[in-house]
Amino acid sequence: MSTKRDYYEVLGVHRDASSSELKKNYRKLAIQFHPDKNPGDKEAEEKFKEAAEAYEVLSDQKKRQIYDQYGHQGLEGAGFSGARGFEDIFSSFGDIFEDFFGFSSGRRHSGSRVRRGADLRYDLNLEFMEAAFGTEKKIELEKAETCPTCNGNGCEPGTQPEVCQYCGGSGQATRTQGFFTVSTTCPSCNGRGKKITSPCSECKGAGQVLINKTVAVKIPAGVDSGSRLRLTGEGETGMGGPPGDLYVFIGVKPHKVFARNNTDVISSIQISFIQAALGDEIKVQTLEGEETLRIPKGTQYGETFRLEGKGIPSLRGYGRGDQIIQVQILTPTNLNKKQATLLKDFSKLESDKLTNKLKNILKGHAAN
Ligand SMILES: [Zn+2]
Ligand SMILES: [Zn+2]
Repeated sequence: MSTKRDYYEVLGVHRDASSSELKKNYRKLAIQFHPDKNPGDKEAEEKFKEAAEAYEVLSDQKKRQIYDQYGHQGLEGAGFSGARGFEDIFSSFGDIFEDFFGFSSGRRHSGSRVRRGADLRYDLNLEFMEAAFGTEKKIELEKAETCPTCNGNGCEPGTQPEVCQYCGGSGQATRTQGFFTVSTTCPSCNGRGKKITSPCSECKGAGQVLINKTVAVKIPAGVDSGSRLRLTGEGETGMGGPPGDLYVFIGVKPHKVFARNNTDVISSIQISFIQAALGDEIKVQTLEGEETLRIPKGTQYGETFRLEGKGIPSLRGYGRGDQIIQVQILTPTNLNKKQATLLKDFSKLESDKLTNKLKNILKGHAAN
């Protein structure tokens, strides 16, 4: 028979306590019985460990379920052994202490074994069309991952880290200053509580190695220069904490024909002054091939035409922009004699037209 106390009783919570209640009560007990505040007090040490064990079980959905159904024996059957050293308690629940002990815990710094993996940034340059319609890209990253040889503990396989002699495994050196006990990171083990005597030959004891990893990135249609994609968990592996995220920063290369204004595509066409004057039907290039565009007669330089829905799909997933076509009118060069004569005749007709108009106006005035 187990002589262990009920975990809910240990933490002083109801059986249906929420995770925040559990955390709150555990934190209270952990601070009360913290070894730094109760040096040499065996009973406090036991209470501290007991609370940590209860919290470890109840804060874990799966373990809590087993415990609720089968009690302590069920957990033993599932291979959970409650016995834990201080080092394990700190590395599992370091964040509980962080805000209370703050600077004194020393466990947020480089020596900490509980650390979220670093975020990574990757700059990805896309072709104009890839950004417009989306694509999938494989990108290669160099990132830190758990060393496969030592599984991250930094020891040559077959060896174990030794408990640090200086701090006795707590990772902290303490001294009393007035009312306060000030803890600093153990200078001998950098807060790890352990020392590696035979470092893993692959990672030199760091527990992590740099690897090249290929990550497939799905680029949604409509991204633009400055868009940022976040791939949760694709950053560097944490040390006892969750992995970081990968941020992909998008850049879009310019296109020979098209420019972009949000979801609108902008292009230009060149037509002759005769097409502009008489009107015509011409072929224009769109993102998805050629389209016929009707030029009305009397079109002016700089006028724009809009092809609705021929722009870039919205990144939000609905709708598309338009294509805006700007008109440029070409002035003919190298006219031959006949063309020049025709244009002069045309010009004369234009001025005759004007003269007649004026005459008519004057005639109208005279009649009145
Ligand atoms: Zn290693
Ligand atoms: Zn130490």
